[in-house]
Amino acid sequence: MPFTELQSKLDERAEQGLLRSRRTLASPQSPYIIVDGTAYLAFSSNDYLGLANHPQLIKALQLGAQQWGVGAGAAHLVNGHFDAHHQLEQQLANFIGKPATLLFSTGYMANQGVVQALVGKADTVFADKLNHASLNDAMLLSRATVKRYRHGDTAQLSQLLSQVQSGRKLVISDAVFSMDGDVAPLRELLALCEQYDAWLYVDDAHGFGVLGAQGRGSLAHFGIQSERIIYMATLGKAAGVSGAFVAAEQVVIDTLVNNAHSYVYTTAAPPALSVALLQSLQLIGQGDELRTHLKRLIAQLRNGLSDLPWRLMPSDTAIQPLLIGDNKYAVRLSEGLRERGIWVAAIRPPTVPQGTARLRITLSVAHNEADVDKLIGVLHELAKEF
Ligand SMILES: *Cc1c(COP(=O)(O)O)cnc(C)c1O
Repeated sequence: MPFTELQSKLDERAEQGLLRSRRTLASPQSPYIIVDGTAYLAFSSNDYLGLANHPQLIKALQLGAQQWGVGAGAAHLVNGHFDAHHQLEQQLANFIGKPATLLFSTGYMANQGVVQALVGKADTVFADKLNHASLNDAMLLSRATVKRYRHGDTAQLSQLLSQVQSGRKLVISDAVFSMDGDVAPLRELLALCEQYDAWLYVDDAHGFGVLGAQGRGSLAHFGIQSERIIYMATLGKAAGVSGAFVAAEQVVIDTLVNNAHSYVYTTAAPPALSVALLQSLQLIGQGDELRTHLKRLIAQLRNGLSDLPWRLMPSDTAIQPLLIGDNKYAVRLSEGLRERGIWVAAIRPPTVPQGTARLRITLSVAHNEADVDKLIGVLHELAKEF
């Protein structure tokens, strides 16, 4: 058995400050968590609207379970597609302003399904180098030719697009980059897709519910809409529950229903989750005041950290990474914060490029100004010590 070999790989990782491990929460997701019996003020979740433990969503999930039970019991194409799924798909289509949507069990699966169903060997995928790992995996699995462009570099993308004469072309980008917090130039990407007759696949995991009027996401934020945009958003981040959906033209959705393996060959998500998500969608739509509060917290944090030796990355979203660089140093800082009661995750390669380890600070509407002040104060203490 090659156990010693596995162990030596893990030891190697540990040596480089790259070993990963889990911590077990003993409380619901919120800015105030309990881990290993200790209370922490947390700045690490993607629960941007504080919905993961919202009383109205808990109630909706309970009612959903009473009405539909706890499990779907089958795949959507067998007999696992419920009225609750159907209602949610329709409301999401209205909310995003697309003709149709399709639910997936996770964002990871949505990305595998869409890319694999839409492109193959004869086709080309154009991808931002900082796209999420699930998109990178998806394009490799699709067997399409892959061309990656420098982060946000539309000039390079234009050049790459101009070199491909045959097959389908699919441009793929995070809308809000998950480890950087900056926003993709979606307007320019769409213009290039029009010029070169390509599709644009937008992963809005961190924009849906947060950006745009009523939280309608990155397309609303930029005021863009096009048949050639295929939109994906996840439902386990700002929406507070679990799952994902793809919004597109009906013919695209029909293609996914028929060809996307991660849709066809898996048990449907519990319909009770869709009942909770219908409630979540209402709260998102009514949440403009919450989003204004979030913007204020973002400004407060950026002001408060502007004189640190470490630099905040250029972002005006709820993702506010503090660039550290060295892996072990980032881990030590994260531990230093923890010793002072604050939970911020250190993000290291391969999740981010070599030499760009960072503290990924995320803000939520569930934080208040005193919470952000506390983080600012403790980071300044650590800056003096380190
Ligand atoms: C989290 C995330 C995903 C995966 O979504 P899950 O529902 O968590 O599987 C996909 N893309 C991006 C950009 C993400 O941040």
